[in-house]
Amino acid sequence: MSSKLSEINDEAYGIGNITSFDEFSVIRNSITDSTIKIPDFDTLIEMLNGSYDSFSNCDAPLGEKLTGTIEKKMETEVDILTIYEDILNEGSNSFPKLNKKAHISFTHGVIAYPLPAMFSKLDASKTWIAYWLMNSCILLETELSNNEKENASKFLLKILNTNINDNNDQYQGFGGGEYQIFHLAASYAAILTLALAKDQNVWSQIDPIKVKNSLLELKLPNGSFIMHKGGESDTRAVYCALCIAQIFDILDDDITKGVFDWLIECQTYEGGFSGEPGDEAHGGYTFCALAAMFILTSPDKILKSNLNFDNLIKWTVDRQYNLEGGFSGRTNKLVDGCYSHWIGGTCSLIETLINYNSKSKTFIPICDRQKLQNYILCCCQDKFGLRDKPGCSADFYHTNYVLCGLSMCQHYQVYDDKLSVEFAPAFGSIPQKISDSDIIDIKSGNIVSAIDSVFGLPYGYAKDMYSYYHKAYSM
Ligand SMILES: [Zn+2]
Repeated sequence: MSSKLSEINDEAYGIGNITSFDEFSVIRNSITDSTIKIPDFDTLIEMLNGSYDSFSNCDAPLGEKLTGTIEKKMETEVDILTIYEDILNEGSNSFPKLNKKAHISFTHGVIAYPLPAMFSKLDASKTWIAYWLMNSCILLETELSNNEKENASKFLLKILNTNINDNNDQYQGFGGGEYQIFHLAASYAAILTLALAKDQNVWSQIDPIKVKNSLLELKLPNGSFIMHKGGESDTRAVYCALCIAQIFDILDDDITKGVFDWLIECQTYEGGFSGEPGDEAHGGYTFCALAAMFILTSPDKILKSNLNFDNLIKWTVDRQYNLEGGFSGRTNKLVDGCYSHWIGGTCSLIETLINYNSKSKTFIPICDRQKLQNYILCCCQDKFGLRDKPGCSADFYHTNYVLCGLSMCQHYQVYDDKLSVEFAPAFGSIPQKISDSDIIDIKSGNIVSAIDSVFGLPYGYAKDMYSYYHKAYSM
């Protein structure tokens, strides 16, 4: 570790002592004056060199007290700067690789055994845990064993059949666990897991008409959906409902009426989308809103709609921080590994729109993939599994979404109108591995599976499940 930086970390950068932006500027200048030996890692050097300016992005007016969030943001920046400096000082051989072996043993290992008692607080998130872990296994390029797939399918059937709303023959849907009410987010995760398990025997036990009846119970007259009976309406609920409807091939006017216009109302003055009209722009809601548009219609129609595309691009690219390389979810918030998917997926969808409309044959990226991959490899890997940021422990959620983000770094999407017509607009994108090392350098050990940016599944799984229902119910 650089002695200069340790000194700053241990003494001058005692966060509690910093009360104004002026004071921080003094510290910043003392870092800039230091002579740091930098080995030849072009991007990391660039990130480090730009870092001293990025500290000033905290937007605190001169002389004003810093907020708790800004203090934490500065603390995180110094932690990450220290990690990058250490890597640079140690030489190129020490640059972290994706520790696939450890992450695979984490994901498959957790699936193999019942969760310990401490996880009982996640009783309403069982379908999510199944999705995060199984999705991660496939993103890490491993197969799910027959045992893993059968156990997941059987367990999800139990949740489906014990749904406490499901007391009449007309409705089918999932709660987060056994004996829980129908919930859109829990159902989205359950159905994605069933897509990963690929068990047609189980698929045949779900009737799309009953699923449609359940979805329509949650539809509001303004076009949006609520998460569950008596629950909140937001862009997440809309996204989950549309993913489910698309996979079961029940996406008709009853489901889609008014949805697109309601989503447009959720775009904020900043350019990102909020959960509902009038709220703050947020990475998760923005991904949900844009991915939902890709399910509803073609890129051409999205581009010709009332979406403020320039503002959306500006807000999205502003989410990537120069020093950290990773994304934040909201203006002035901290970097977080899970936004590698929520914002990364948004970047991927925006790039699809830009490149769809472009006459150039060259792919035009809107985020710096090398920097994001550096953040993921250097800062988001725990001993087993992946995490939000340095200082945090790995968890199932971050393991999945950091891997989804890594996949986005390594691929871009090409939109094929023929596929859109043959299947549906949601299935028009085909991922392509990026081979241009100016965009991203992908070492063989770091490769992850290609992702379907719309559904959050490895490519092909959503389309296969859709094709099953399309064939089974169109005869
Ligand atoms: Zn997170």
